[in-house]
Amino acid sequence: MIRSGKRIIMSTTYDSLLSAITDPAGREILDPATGEVVGTVAFGSVADLDAAVTRARAAQPAWAARSDDDRKALLLKAADAIEEAAEPLAELLSREQGKPLNGPNARFEVGACSAWLRATAATALPGETVVDDEETHAELRYRPVGVVGAIGPWNWPMMITIWQVAPALRMGNTAVVKPSEYTPLSVLALIEVLNGVLPADVLIPVAGEGEVGARLSSHPDIDKVMFTGSTRTGQAIIKSSADTVKRLTLELGGNDAGIVLPDVDAKAIAQDLFWGCFINTGQTCAALKRLYVHADVYDDVCAALVEVAGQMPMGRGLDENNVLGPLQNRAQFDIVARLVEAAKESGAKVLTGGDPDTDAPGHFYPLTLVADIDNDNPLVTEEQFGPALPIIRYTDVDEVVALANGLDVGLGASVWSGDADAARAIAGRLEAGTVWINGHGGVHPMIPFGGVKKSGYGLEFGVEGLKGVSVPQVING
Ligand code: NAD
Repeated sequence: MIRSGKRIIMSTTYDSLLSAITDPAGREILDPATGEVVGTVAFGSVADLDAAVTRARAAQPAWAARSDDDRKALLLKAADAIEEAAEPLAELLSREQGKPLNGPNARFEVGACSAWLRATAATALPGETVVDDEETHAELRYRPVGVVGAIGPWNWPMMITIWQVAPALRMGNTAVVKPSEYTPLSVLALIEVLNGVLPADVLIPVAGEGEVGARLSSHPDIDKVMFTGSTRTGQAIIKSSADTVKRLTLELGGNDAGIVLPDVDAKAIAQDLFWGCFINTGQTCAALKRLYVHADVYDDVCAALVEVAGQMPMGRGLDENNVLGPLQNRAQFDIVARLVEAAKESGAKVLTGGDPDTDAPGHFYPLTLVADIDNDNPLVTEEQFGPALPIIRYTDVDEVVALANGLDVGLGASVWSGDADAARAIAGRLEAGTVWINGHGGVHPMIPFGGVKKSGYGLEFGVEGLKGVSVPQVING
């Protein structure tokens, strides 16, 4: 629900953090690894959302009137506060989302939150003179939009919240945040820590179901929506924001292709390929979700991936040995299971995995690599968002470029080769917001990130990200 912004003290513990955001009468949030209750949280109503927007609107002029240096300093203090509470935040994230503490997971995500706050504080969006001659002087400046609504998913709940709100606050906007109904505790805890530093009502979370998100995206006093989630919900937000002509940044679903050229050393790239596909147990927007491997190296790449997969322990996140966790929720487990079954029925070859223990507790789906699969199989054409990878054989570069571009989404893509020029030439032909060379999914706070086609529009990060939460204004004369 709506939090008042209590100060978090240096000695934040897991229990103190959880109790600060718990409502005993609220909704039970379950650990996806064990089914145990992690905590209970009050789900807000549309009326609660309206009240939060009123408060954020009232707080916005004073926040915008602060000096730029002031807001920068507060973002840096917020980064310090996250670092002081890093371990309890990571534990809560691990319990609620399922991702292990270790590996590129919970501690990594909390670390990224403070890193992004620091980078955002260090990034400026100065106005510029666009024409300056004897007759005309025109400047382009950037003003805050007003109140930003941030709606997020359950896969990287803390990091994506920071991606949405840090630039918004930096530019003088206030923000109302609607976390995913699957991972509200992580976001409420993060904002509790941030609000120990920020002035009241600058950043207000409202946990709730989709109806709260729907109200946020139609609310007359919300000026901009930053949305990260599925394409279907993004489409609903476009419609519900139409009457108020809201500005939107939409980071939607993806089904990223990776193309492996015949010159690679399969063993040398296997580890990076693995994490490109399976970071966060495959529950990542810009994970590699369809792997196209040239016939000359197909068997070698498959064998190398199977070997790496065999070295990656999956289990409860709090166990320091694990680097892979459960699916966050049963619905996602069911999607992955259905798609792997479809692949099996088509005669594709399961190299490893594909046989979940449905009697065991938790939503664990084993790492699954599927070879000899047709490009029109649902495991290839639908976003699996989990630990099951289809590996498709190709022989011709023009053909594989057409296959990679053949879907209606375009978040990321990658090309793997020892020949950087050849890889870059292919990269330029791919319909994706980002194409990585010899890697997949790496993000950087200064490098713009966003999708094309049904993966959405608008850019996050760096100077482009600040523009996304501003309105341009021309001063002519
Ligand atoms: P989702 O669309 O089901 O939910 C996202 C959020 O939207 C939740 O907070 C939900 O409550 C809210 N919501 C639901 N109905 C709404 C409505 N009508 N109006 C406004 N808000 C509404 O997405 P998810 O299942 O939580 O996340 C998984 C999806 O997110 C995947 O498709 C993944 O690729 C995508 N994703 C994209 C990026 C990116 O940067 N492009 C990053 C992470 C995840």
